[in-house]
Amino acid sequence: MLYILFTTGACNLRCTYCGGSIPRELVPWSISYSVEELRKFIGKDPDPIIAFYGGEPLLNPDFIMEVMDSLEAKFVIQTNGTLVKRLPVDYWMRFDAVLMSIDGRKEVNDLYRGKGNYDRVVEAAKWLKEMGFKGDLIARMALWYASDVYEDVKHLLYLGPFDHVHWQLNVVWTERWDFEGWARSSYLPGIKKLVDLWIEEMGKGVVLGIVPFLGIMKVELFNEWTAPPCGAGVESFSVLPDGRILACPIAFDVSWSLVGDLRRGIERKVFIGEPCTSCPYFKYCGGRCLYAYKERLWGEEGFRSICDITKRTIDYVLSAKKRILSLIREGVITKEQLYYPPFNNTTEIIP
Ligand code: SF4
Ligand code: SF4
Repeated sequence: MLYILFTTGACNLRCTYCGGSIPRELVPWSISYSVEELRKFIGKDPDPIIAFYGGEPLLNPDFIMEVMDSLEAKFVIQTNGTLVKRLPVDYWMRFDAVLMSIDGRKEVNDLYRGKGNYDRVVEAAKWLKEMGFKGDLIARMALWYASDVYEDVKHLLYLGPFDHVHWQLNVVWTERWDFEGWARSSYLPGIKKLVDLWIEEMGKGVVLGIVPFLGIMKVELFNEWTAPPCGAGVESFSVLPDGRILACPIAFDVSWSLVGDLRRGIERKVFIGEPCTSCPYFKYCGGRCLYAYKERLWGEEGFRSICDITKRTIDYVLSAKKRILSLIREGVITKEQLYYPPFNNTTEIIP
């Protein structure tokens, strides 16, 4: 099971699509449960994954260190990468996966995340590798109107420090924008080019770490899947700083997401239902995102239009299957190279 621990609701940045710190009354800014309580809650799990989350988790490094010193688990952190020196190097070395927020090329990243942000994050990513970090360093992107998925993902793939690149579309949780126009003119053609690049590199024995492609192909090759792919509500739960437990970490202000409390445990699960369970793409898409499925903030029409893009993306990726299988048969790549993610490392797979 994946346990996403909010270390605080506060953040030191104010990115345009997010807005920064979460109000304290929704997500408190300090921890009010003991690590002993957390240990009792997680203790029975034979294979726990703990992901530190916020706000910006590194605003509370003491809590991170206390948890890492008290529990045996796989450790993950999602950070904006601007405060990496707040955690001693030996703690960094113990992470299985580090996800750093960066949105692509410098001009695009800094447009969304603030001037100078790109340089700070790239410096942090390089520093982590120079320190000897051997885990999975993942660039975590948000794509919006100024993003070119092909150029921005390619930029991060070849930049150096990042092992994998994952992205999410900025849909549903911000105001409606011309997503369809952008998808038609930029995103879908970019996905097609990116699939071509992926296959071209595989022909040379290199499997580029494009998380959504790997995640979709993993379902096809290994027949392993969860709905939703992030596991929210079924295999992933988030613990707020006051000990309340949520199905999805961004659903902190809606009642369907509140599923328990650290002291009482998880009292119920939350599932994806129709129309997804009857959708021919369900196995790959998994309903995409529990929050978007439940909230439908862009209405039914917005939901369907995101589905269209998801389906086309899945089609493009699956169209590469035949070529991939022949590369495996020829021994150019191995099937195991396509087994990603190896555990739920908080990459949500479907953008
Ligand atoms: S494509 Fe749409 S309807 Fe189909 S499973 Fe995904 S979210 Fe559900
Ligand atoms: S993909 Fe959706 S349901 Fe899953 S963690 Fe992200 S916001 Fe929550």
